[in-house]
Amino acid sequence: MANAIYKHTTHLEQSNSDAFDTITPVGHSAPYSGIYRCKGCGHMISSTKGHTLPPQNHPQHSTAQGQIRWQLIVGHD
Ligand SMILES: [Zn+2]
Repeated sequence: MANAIYKHTTHLEQSNSDAFDTITPVGHSAPYSGIYRCKGCGHMISSTKGHTLPPQNHPQHSTAQGQIRWQLIVGHD
């Protein structure tokens, strides 16, 4: 599972927002614009606030990986 990467921290800051603890299922809209990671398989996507989080183009999950569920890892307004 790859991590999101960055180089310069100038425009990044840590947040304690509950938004980063929220798990959003497939078919629900993204609560924030940013980068989301699937809790099951580690696949990452970029999404825009209000857009439906995709099952499209998502690798097939094994039974052990369970449902596709998205967690925000980097967000912006
Ligand atoms: Zn996945």
